[in-house]
Amino acid sequence: MAVRHLSAAILLISFCSSRCIAQDEQRFTLKGTIVTPSQVLSDGAISILGSQIEGVRATVAGVQGSIVETDSFIFPGLIDLHDHITWNLLPRWRPNQLFMNRYEWQQKAAYSIALDQPHYSISADHELACDADRFGEIKAIVGGATSVVGGLAPTSGSNDNACILGLTRNLDIYAGFPDSVLNKEKVWYVIFPLEMSLAATVAVRSGLDSGAVKALLVHAGEGKPTDAAAAREFAMLAKNGDGFLRPGVSVIHGVAFNAADFKRMAKAGVGLIWSPRSNIELYGGTTDVLSAKASGVKIALAPDWSPTGSDGMIEELKYASTWNAAQYPPVFENGELVNMATIFPAQLAGADKQIGSLAKGMYADLLLIRRNVTDANRALLYASPADVRLVVIGGVPIYGDADLMDRLLPQRELERLTVCGVSKKLYIKPQPGIPETAKTFKQISGELQSKLSEWGTSLAELAPCDGSNLK
Ligand SMILES: [Zn+2]
Repeated sequence: MAVRHLSAAILLISFCSSRCIAQDEQRFTLKGTIVTPSQVLSDGAISILGSQIEGVRATVAGVQGSIVETDSFIFPGLIDLHDHITWNLLPRWRPNQLFMNRYEWQQKAAYSIALDQPHYSISADHELACDADRFGEIKAIVGGATSVVGGLAPTSGSNDNACILGLTRNLDIYAGFPDSVLNKEKVWYVIFPLEMSLAATVAVRSGLDSGAVKALLVHAGEGKPTDAAAAREFAMLAKNGDGFLRPGVSVIHGVAFNAADFKRMAKAGVGLIWSPRSNIELYGGTTDVLSAKASGVKIALAPDWSPTGSDGMIEELKYASTWNAAQYPPVFENGELVNMATIFPAQLAGADKQIGSLAKGMYADLLLIRRNVTDANRALLYASPADVRLVVIGGVPIYGDADLMDRLLPQRELERLTVCGVSKKLYIKPQPGIPETAKTFKQISGELQSKLSEWGTSLAELAPCDGSNLK
């Protein structure tokens, strides 16, 4: 970060250490079919005051103030516990081969040219890195997410990633909860746990024991289901007296883990974050979720990243639902798949008192899906990005169909986007003192495209529109 921005950013961070995500104290009520997700209220109403849910009712009777008919299913905003947000501007990578494990593809020249070098060139420039994070967060929102992990990390332990403030919740960097402090969140997201120092391992364990760390999300066991190197990573989790086998830990991938491993994970209260599409595209197989579920492991679903995984949560839900329907018998019921994108990830992140369900006092993080089928779960599981009617984060409508956005934010400057041929509107609220957050989506896209063209590649789409990128 340029020096002239630093003092302003520090001021802002101390000023908004409680609520940077939503300060608009407006009150409104949305009418629609509410999926809490433990119950469905077919003609319900959800009232929002400021950043929180004021009430969830079975009817609009007795509701004061403005009521907006949404003709939508109203779900909790989706929670993405496994992503690499700044990579999602890159187009889909089709290596035309399957790999044994992640160490194999990361050594390939084709990976370096298509993904690693362009990503590095963008990450090395502060302003472009902020643009990349914004693009990735907007893409996540277009795909139905209101919370993510794996956004722009600070490069030097400082606050030079303050440009992440104000759009999605970044559960591992800045969640926007009252006790949130930039880069000091209680959710730890670790991509290479094997490289963690012994001191860091000890710190995590004592943090989980004391409650200073709420969750540790670690990549492990990523490779073919039969890959021995990936399978050995279970031993890493279990070493030092079951070091990482404890409540609060969740394994990302676990593709090479077996039924006995899942039994130990369940017994220790360890969760699983499943990313089937990326697994199947890279390795030709995915996690034994049947055994994981049978053992009692809590499972969340997440896209991983868009180069080999899904472009967002609703696309990953569609992929997982299609995979599930092809199993005999299916592993999951539809309601479980919805839980795996809402309440279960909230629980695994230690944030289920704030997000992941719709009830009085929870943060108003909402996803509205067009009501074009009768079954609520099916509407979400098989939604297209065009069906996203509205996304609300911390009580603020951020993105959605033009009719709802114009009605809810009549005085605000909204940017028009076209997603899958449907006109949508986006509201980016700039954060004072952080000029990177004032850019329009069009500006961000233009700057990123210009850099990517130096590498002979192009900016990814925000969302797939006809399912054509699904194999
Ligand atoms: Zn990952």
